Amino acid sequence: MRYSGFKIFAQGLTGNKGWKANWRQPEPKDSYDIVIVGGGGHGLATAYYLAKEFSINNVAVVEKGWIGSGNVGRNTTIIRSNYMLPGNEPFYELSMKLWEGFEQDLNYNAMVSQRGILNLYHNDAQRDGFIRRGNAMQLAGADAILMGRDEVKEMYPFFDFQSSRFPIRGGLWQKRGGTVRHDAVAWGYARKADELGVDILQNCEVTGLRLEDGVCKGIETSKGTIMAKNVAVCVAGSSGRVMSMAGLRVPIESHILQAFVSEGLKPVLSGVVTFGAGHFYVSQSDKGGLVFGGDIDGYNSYAQRGNLPAVEDVCEGGMAIMPMIGRARILRMWGGTVDMSMDGSPFIDKTDIQGLYFNGGWCYGGFKATPASGWCYAHLLATGRPHEVATEFRLDRFRHGHMIDEKGVGAQPNLH
Ligand SMILES: Cc1cc2nc3c(=O)[nH]c(=O)nc-3n(C[C@H](O)[C@H](O)[C@H](O)COP(=O)(O)OP(=O)(O)OC[C@H]3O[C@@H](n4cnc5c(N)ncnc54)[C@H](O)[C@@H]3O)c2cc1C
Repeated sequence: MRYSGFKIFAQGLTGNKGWKANWRQPEPKDSYDIVIVGGGGHGLATAYYLAKEFSINNVAVVEKGWIGSGNVGRNTTIIRSNYMLPGNEPFYELSMKLWEGFEQDLNYNAMVSQRGILNLYHNDAQRDGFIRRGNAMQLAGADAILMGRDEVKEMYPFFDFQSSRFPIRGGLWQKRGGTVRHDAVAWGYARKADELGVDILQNCEVTGLRLEDGVCKGIETSKGTIMAKNVAVCVAGSSGRVMSMAGLRVPIESHILQAFVSEGLKPVLSGVVTFGAGHFYVSQSDKGGLVFGGDIDGYNSYAQRGNLPAVEDVCEGGMAIMPMIGRARILRMWGGTVDMSMDGSPFIDKTDIQGLYFNGGWCYGGFKATPASGWCYAHLLATGRPHEVATEFRLDRFRHGHMIDEKGVGAQPNLH
């Protein structure tokens, strides 16, 4: 079913009885060409681009819960391509370009909103770092504008410019950054992948990887064995658990990251803003709630709920830049399990086990990467070669010393 304004009008006249389910509920087949483990944004995007770009549709996406139950439906919806290192920036810029055509490509309203993202800086050294980052972004074809204090003040006059501890000196502005409604991304990809013949198997947990003579031949699931020529793992916060089924240890720790939504307010924040002297980022949803988050909780866990000290830290960050946020009440909050890699950058790679592929290590920034991650993973699975913008996302980069240490903080997930 193709969605359009006319369709909404026609359905309205006929009692909205003609809408169809977005995807089927098929039973698993005995075997597939490719089985994707994990029905998050990245897994579903991979399935869609495999079918659309490479005409491979004998594919199943195996999801232990329901579509959207993982981080794809738990994040703070921010998209941007303001990275600096050559291993990262072209990849995130490809993702930004795919977001720009996302709704037309998928015929799905995902509320892509390029409302801009402003990274605040608070001292001269940080400003110099942002100038360097902005230049690197422009060299990779992205947009970046350096703003001074007065320009920021014009945009957000209610920020605390007088703070003696973290005075706001300016910001790096990426106009094309913004937000996208997160669960609509999962639903949009699921709907289109299904339409192209992909089987989406919900409530089907992968309990084992079937290895024969060192080759991955399929998966064991709560609904039985499924054979596959290739198995593509894409489970974000469960990366360590699933890869250990093949006896592999990945350089990833699982941590909790929380998100918060305030009660609805009148329009106050036109774009996304990030604090430069701590971990805090905020935007305002179309319903009026301030959507914000901060640092990871700082202990390893697979639980999808957070702890109170992190709440205090996030709210402190918010108070430091916009004290009036203290008058807004938090309406709801939740946690997601994020896959923190040791240099803060992801992996899209083959493993040493034939037929087994891995995509993970997205830390707390993988939502913005969803389209490019799916595209590049599909490219790797279909051609056996990494996509040109994802050549650095290798599993062996720590062995060879080619880390992509965007923040220069080393192997400390809590600092990335
Ligand atoms: C609170 C929070 C805020 C965030 N904010 C942002 C942001 O503003 N911008 C941004 O770019 N990124 C953000 N992120 C990060 C982003 O959400 C993730 O990096 C990204 O969603 C991960 O990829 P995914 O969508 O494929 O993961 P998921 O949606 O988690 O998908 C993985 C799936 O694998 C499934 N799975 C796990 N184990 C198994 C198994 N054994 N068998 C079958 N299925 C299994 C899970 O159920 C899950 O559905 C945030 C994350 C959180 C938690």
